[in-house]
Amino acid sequence: MSAGVLIVGAGQAAAQLAISLRQSGHDGVIRMIGDEPYAPYQRPPLSKAYLKEKASIETLLLRRDSYWTDHKVQLELGAPVAAVDLARKQVGLRDGRSVGYGTLVFATGTRARDLPLPGIALPGVFSLRKIDDVRRLRPALDDARRIVIVGGGYIGLEVAAVMRQEGREAVVVEAEDRVMKRVAGEVVSGFFDTLHRSRGADIRLRCRLASIDGDGRATGITLASGERIAADVVLVATGARANDDLAVAAGLQCEDGVVVDDLARSAPDVYAIGDCARFFSHRYGRKIRLECVQNAIDQAKTAADAIMGQAKPYDPVPWFWSDQYEIKLQITGLLDGFDACETIGDPAGGKFSVEYRKAGKLIAVDAINDGRAHMMGRRRIAAELPEIGAA
Ligand SMILES: Cc1cc2nc3c(=O)[nH]c(=O)nc-3n(C[C@H](O)[C@H](O)[C@H](O)COP(=O)(O)OP(=O)(O)OC[C@H]3O[C@@H](n4cnc5c(N)ncnc54)[C@H](O)[C@@H]3O)c2cc1C
Repeated sequence: MSAGVLIVGAGQAAAQLAISLRQSGHDGVIRMIGDEPYAPYQRPPLSKAYLKEKASIETLLLRRDSYWTDHKVQLELGAPVAAVDLARKQVGLRDGRSVGYGTLVFATGTRARDLPLPGIALPGVFSLRKIDDVRRLRPALDDARRIVIVGGGYIGLEVAAVMRQEGREAVVVEAEDRVMKRVAGEVVSGFFDTLHRSRGADIRLRCRLASIDGDGRATGITLASGERIAADVVLVATGARANDDLAVAAGLQCEDGVVVDDLARSAPDVYAIGDCARFFSHRYGRKIRLECVQNAIDQAKTAADAIMGQAKPYDPVPWFWSDQYEIKLQITGLLDGFDACETIGDPAGGKFSVEYRKAGKLIAVDAINDGRAHMMGRRRIAAELPEIGAA
C-alpha cells in the first residue's frame, strides 16, 4: 500500500474519493485537507433550499462527522494548502506545516470568476459559492427590498426565484441574448425567461454592467447603456473558474483546470477530480471541464479505481439539474454544435423535453419536470455516442 492518499480540498469529489477508496478496501492513510472550516458538504442547496429555508449546516453535510472518524479519514479543515512539491512528494500548508504523500489528488473545485469592475469590492456585493457566502448574504437579503443579480445562469435564476418567493424585487442582468445560454437550448431559455417574468422578476437581456455604485456600500449598478438600477444587494453570479493555481505552480499542465487523462491522472501519483479537472471527452471529441455533482462523484470513483489498480476509463454522459420555483430542469449531454432539435410535449403545460441531434445522433436532452425523459435521454445518448473503447 502507498504512503497514503492526500486530497487537497474537502468538497463533493474529495468526499466521494475517500468513501470509494475505503469501500474498495484501501487501508492506508487517507487525509483530506480543506480550506473551508466545514466537513464535506453539498453545494447545490446553497442557491436553493438552504438559502430559502435557512436550514442548519448539518443538513448540507455529505456524511456525519462520525463517518470520517469511523473510516479513519483524517480531515484537516480550515487549512489552505499553499504549495505542492512534486519532487519531494509533499504539500505546504499556509500555516507553515508540510505534509508528505504517496498519492496526491487535487479536488479543489472552482471559485467565482473575477469581475474587474469599479465598485466590485463594495460591501453589499456578494458571490455564492460556499456556506460562508450564504452566511454573509442571507442577513443582507433579509433587509433587502430589491436585489440585482448579475448573470442569468442557473445560480442567478435560482436565487431570483427564492427572492420572488419571499416577495422581494429581483432584477436579473444578463449580457447574452437569453438566460442560461451556456447550458440550455433556446426553447428552454425561453421557457425559463417566461417563467421568471410571470413571477415578477425583471429580466434584462443584452445588458453589460459598467460599474457597481455606492459610497461605502453598494446602492445599485450602472449598465454600459448608462441606465442606473438601484439595489440593496448585488449578487454577482457570472460563472466560475478552476482552482488550479497550485497545480500551475507545481508545473502540471493546466487549461482552466488540471488536465487529466481518462483515469483522472495528471502525472505519476497525481490526480485531479471534479470541477477543477479538465479531461478529454471521447464521446464529444473535445476537452471538457464540468461543474456538476455527477462529474464530481463519477470522476472521484474513477480515481479511486485507478489508485487501487483497477483502471476503468472515464467518459461520461454528463448530467445536471436546477430547481427554479416548482420546476425541475434536468440537462443531460452537451449541446455541442447540434444541427437539429425537437420539442416533445407542451412547454405551456410545464412538462416537456427537448432533444438535440448532431449528424442524426442524440447528443443532449433538456427535460423540464420530466424525469422519465431525462433518464431515457441519458441511456439513449450513452448508446448513440459510444464511450471510449466501445466499438
Ligand atoms: C450555488 C451552487 C449551486 C449548485 N447547484 C448545482 C446543481 O443544482 N446541480 C449540480 O449538479 N451541481 C450544482 N453545483 C455544482 C456542484 O456543487 C459542484 O460541481 C461540486 O460541488 C464539485 O465538487 P468538487 O469537489 O469538485 O468541488 P467543491 O465541492 O467546490 O470542493 C472544492 C473544495 O476545495 C477547497 N479548496 C480549494 N483550494 C484549496 C486549497 N488550496 N487548499 C485547501 N482546500 C482548497 C474549496 O474551498 C472547496 O471547499 C452548484 C454549485 C454551486 C456553487
